[in-house]
Amino acid sequence: MKIFLPFLLILLTASCYKPTEILYVRTFYIMGSEFQYKLYCKKKPICEKAVRESQERLNQIDFLFSNYREDSVLTKVNLNASISPVSVPAEFINLTEQSVYFSELTKGAFDITVGNLFELWKKSSKTHQMPEKSQIESALKCTGYKKILLDKTNNTVSFDSNCLELDFGAIGKGYAVDEVVKIVKSRGIKKGLINFGGNIYALDKQTGEKGWEVGVNDPFNKSSVVDFIKIDNLGVATSGDYEKYFLINGKRYSHIIDPHTGYPVENLSSVTVLADSATKADALSTAFSVMGKNKTENFAEKNKVAGVMIIDGDRSNYKVFKSEGFKSIQDAD
Ligand code: ADP
Ligand code: MG
Repeated sequence: MKIFLPFLLILLTASCYKPTEILYVRTFYIMGSEFQYKLYCKKKPICEKAVRESQERLNQIDFLFSNYREDSVLTKVNLNASISPVSVPAEFINLTEQSVYFSELTKGAFDITVGNLFELWKKSSKTHQMPEKSQIESALKCTGYKKILLDKTNNTVSFDSNCLELDFGAIGKGYAVDEVVKIVKSRGIKKGLINFGGNIYALDKQTGEKGWEVGVNDPFNKSSVVDFIKIDNLGVATSGDYEKYFLINGKRYSHIIDPHTGYPVENLSSVTVLADSATKADALSTAFSVMGKNKTENFAEKNKVAGVMIIDGDRSNYKVFKSEGFKSIQDAD
């Protein structure tokens, strides 16, 4: 018997052995925000390779859509598309087309042509002078997604305006997350979470878990969290004025502009959207901040948005609204 015992033990260990996955976490800064990966891989080099590949992809996206880089395709478009059609890579046309789709869907609440208005408010927060009404009016004349002309045969962009400026700030991060998710999945990685400055996509959850826990920040105290939700195979984004805002004469103005009025939005302190992609969650969270609570409620129901959570009001008096979709995902936790 003594002779057989070690043999038995080895057999038992072998039959119980299952390849386990390791959790790989990686964080770095790009485009002014933190990019975080949490991935489950059979072997560390698989995760490392996916991260390396997706970093190259992020650099390409930055080269296309950055409004901080002088050499970006966006800078070239903003400088020249008012004069004559500008040749751009097909990807630039695609994201512009998606942005126009969200403008139409939200009746202009989301609009990547807010560039002029945004610059005007940014300048005001530097000079501490409210913009003149006439300045808002002229910036409004340089706004409007219908003035973007896309030629998909020749891959060119032109503007039906002498002063339009595009700004992908409200959709670019969500888009970058979705592009990274594609690369991660193509490497056979199924479980994970990608977070780019609060624009998130949760892939499959870890076995035995109910989902990836995502916290919604308290808009009045950014170091604390007001609520949690557990999700998988969903995108999440929060738009709010707790991190980025314009300060003019001591008053805080949201960095989200209502493209119809030209003024920053008020009241909605934070809007969190759950959607089937991070791009959609990003674009809609900005649009809902402009649309306000009632319009958002109707929109979310009509368009079957997976979930919306709104914090409405200011620090001393605020209300939390959750759509039915948000509540049912939370109840399933
Ligand atoms: P964050 O930058 O905090 O992730 P958002 O996704 O809401 O927030 O994007 C806000 C940015 O989008 C602004 O900084 C500005 O560049 C741009 N923007 C502001 N208002 C609008 C709007 N109504 N539609 C589209 N883009 C907007
Ligand atoms: Mg957004």
